[in-house]
Amino acid sequence: GFRCGIVGLPNVGKSTLFNALTETASAAAANYPFCTIEPNVGNVPVPDPRLGVLSGIAKSAKIIETQLGFVDIAGLVRGASKGEGLGNQFLGNIREVDAIVHVLRCFEDDDVTHVEGRIDPVSDADTVDTELMLSDLESLEKRVPALAKKGMQGDKEAKVAAAVLGRALDLLREGKPARLVVPGDEEEAKALHAAQLLTGKPVLYVCNVAEGDAAEGNALSAAVAKKAAAEGARSVVISAAIESEIAMMDPADRPDFLSELGLTETGLARVVRAGYDLLGLLTFFTVGPKETRAWTVPAGSRAPQAAGAIHSDFEKGFIRAETIAYDDYVAFKGEAGARDAGKFRSEGKDYVVVDGDVLNFRFNV
Ligand code: GDP
Repeated sequence: GFRCGIVGLPNVGKSTLFNALTETASAAAANYPFCTIEPNVGNVPVPDPRLGVLSGIAKSAKIIETQLGFVDIAGLVRGASKGEGLGNQFLGNIREVDAIVHVLRCFEDDDVTHVEGRIDPVSDADTVDTELMLSDLESLEKRVPALAKKGMQGDKEAKVAAAVLGRALDLLREGKPARLVVPGDEEEAKALHAAQLLTGKPVLYVCNVAEGDAAEGNALSAAVAKKAAAEGARSVVISAAIESEIAMMDPADRPDFLSELGLTETGLARVVRAGYDLLGLLTFFTVGPKETRAWTVPAGSRAPQAAGAIHSDFEKGFIRAETIAYDDYVAFKGEAGARDAGKFRSEGKDYVVVDGDVLNFRFNV
């Protein structure tokens, strides 16, 4: 599945956030008997109000959310790119995730030591970004000339990679992340993706504020929001302390607790959804009397690929996808009504799945 890595300096609230995420996940784990549990990885259900609407219409016995993986990546300190702390291991762990959730300390608390001795989330973010950029810079300074040489010797793939990674190297030399590279075509996009640059991954800044600031944020989180906007990144405000309280609470008591704090949903729900957006994923649904279930595929996926998200046999033997758009399914109160209204479509292997599609696959076994 898709994974977000939680990073940040020590003592900013990463573990508190990760534990709150996985607390929620273990409460939901009954729905996922086949998922393996790794200590620093949590698969977290993606909240989606459309599931309740669809299952209400179809009178499904249960709802199953789609999931997003979170990985707790500890060990970043200044100098990581030079092997300080758990430097190399840390950078290797980041390489394996699809997106970065960067936690920043935006709360004051004299009892919690700050590794740099002052509360300044924008400069913390720069410290972490600098380590990631130095690591990419160092690896590209070796790789780009080697690729260029191979390219000159007639290796076409190496030539494409040398061109696009060369532009990444230029940006890094100016102190800018590789995520700002615009690939010229699909080949370049592939080469860039395959290079797994640390600063090429999408970033979500999570501002960890004091409980009282959870609803509105504070001056520190506002400064982070400004930085994020300037970089084309995103930011959300949460209070990790509140989230860990909520995670341990009886679900029935959560709405009242949230509304007392001026919140309409948990910060975790916002982090999970933002992670999902960050990765460019979309959701489709399968709906029946047994269950209404959400599934994840990358935006732009075609019907057979969506079938493969459910089972590889569905993709191999794909014949067609019976499709009803979410809005049509709701407006015409289910499959029968949608059929009568002419909104039931039979789509072939080139169909590009749309977010919210209710799909039923026909396949050969
Ligand atoms: P990590 O090193 O980034 O994983 O940070 P931890 O999650 O272990 O948190 C470090 C310390 O900060 C712990 O003592 C937490 O209880 C405390 N902490 C985390 N989030 C908050 C918060 O929102 N407010 C306050 N006051 N303390 C927090």
